[in-house]
Amino acid sequence: MIKETKGCKELISEVIEKNLCCLCGACAGSCPYLTSYKGRIVQMDSCTLADGQCYQYCPRTPVDMDALSRQVFDGPYGEEEMGTFQEVFMSRSQDSSVREKGQYGGTVTTLLSTALEEGLIDRALLTRTGKDKTPKPLVAGNISEVLEAAGSNYMACSVLEAYNRLPEGNSDRLALVGVPCQILAFGKMRLEQPRHRFSTDRVAFVIGLFCTWALSPAGFHDFLKNSLNLSSATRFDIPPPPANRFDIYNALGKVSLPLEQVREHVMPTCAYCLDMTAEFADVSVGSLEGIEGWNTVIIRTEAGARLVEMARAKGKIEIQELPGDKLAHLKEAALIKKKRALKQIVNRTGDKKDLLYVGLSSKLSEKLLA
Ligand SMILES: Cc1cc2nc3c(=O)[nH]c(=O)nc-3n(C[C@H](O)[C@H](O)[C@H](O)COP(=O)(O)OP(=O)(O)OC[C@H]3O[C@@H](n4cnc5c(N)ncnc54)[C@H](O)[C@@H]3O)c2cc1C
Repeated sequence: MIKETKGCKELISEVIEKNLCCLCGACAGSCPYLTSYKGRIVQMDSCTLADGQCYQYCPRTPVDMDALSRQVFDGPYGEEEMGTFQEVFMSRSQDSSVREKGQYGGTVTTLLSTALEEGLIDRALLTRTGKDKTPKPLVAGNISEVLEAAGSNYMACSVLEAYNRLPEGNSDRLALVGVPCQILAFGKMRLEQPRHRFSTDRVAFVIGLFCTWALSPAGFHDFLKNSLNLSSATRFDIPPPPANRFDIYNALGKVSLPLEQVREHVMPTCAYCLDMTAEFADVSVGSLEGIEGWNTVIIRTEAGARLVEMARAKGKIEIQELPGDKLAHLKEAALIKKKRALKQIVNRTGDKKDLLYVGLSSKLSEKLLA
């Protein structure tokens, strides 16, 4: 794929004005022009750079999937429903207080605290829920800060803006946690090292979260504020089908909202996302439908395998084989997301050869569109 030499102007016209922005923050924080504000990427002044890393790193500008795959896995992008992987199993934290605070099994929190404790990383770039209940990036340097970020906030967060603001030349080793679009953007950064920024080589682990869609902080926050006493909310959850509801927990119990009302606030760009399992992470973690208090874990790289094995060997996480029907269900869900997104893309472009940002081989795109 020929490298696009485009900048902020094209990012605005091709992505932001076309409602394709994921709010990952990859474009923001490294120049004086772009920043996130109230759940949107905004331009503070005009930029005339013809070749901007803002455009290059955006997960909705052309992505050469083979190049990205070669960078992470040493091989071209394959046909596996949930990307390249070594192993899949179920896991949960051995610490009941982490399980309590964590979204499901607290695996992510436990992997991060093990990495900190064992000196594998110095910091972790995470997302926590702020006082106003919107998600905020957090650079966690100790276990209590990692715990502060435990739990899922289903609104999109510009966590990579915080990455872009990390000091250049800093020798800290970092872990990054993010949803698939954030991990994809970070993969693009790895392909072409950011100029004058924290080196991607200092990122020891990339932990991806499964994601079907994320909510727009701009609209969903107002909707929540108008629907309930948001200040008392302590936890959000989307229980698996057929529940069809969005739960907001507080000290007295929980309030449930119909999922169809919540879905109205899904980021429009999520309709065009093919990735359910954060395919370019070292290790991906999601829920485990039908088995409460556990996570599904996908090991993808040697780094991911080392981290999980360390946590297991130190008695921090418990691992069990994933039942065959759960694995089959996960693969099916991941494939459905790919096919649906590609179909939506073709509906939008009107051309089976124009896949918007997705640089797939024609053999694979034809297979997914069949
Ligand atoms: C927007 C969104 C959609 C999701 N959709 C699905 C889904 O469809 N199916 C599924 O199986 N799982 C989904 N997940 C993942 C799931 O909610 C859990 O995060 C995952 O199973 C890990 O569980 P845990 O118990 O190990 O998490 P914990 O140990 O509690 O760790 C959770 C981590 O999530 C990070 N985080 C919280 N909010 C955000 C955010 N807005 N953006 C990025 N990172 C965040 C925090 O940094 C924290 O470290 C989604 C998560 C998000 C954020």
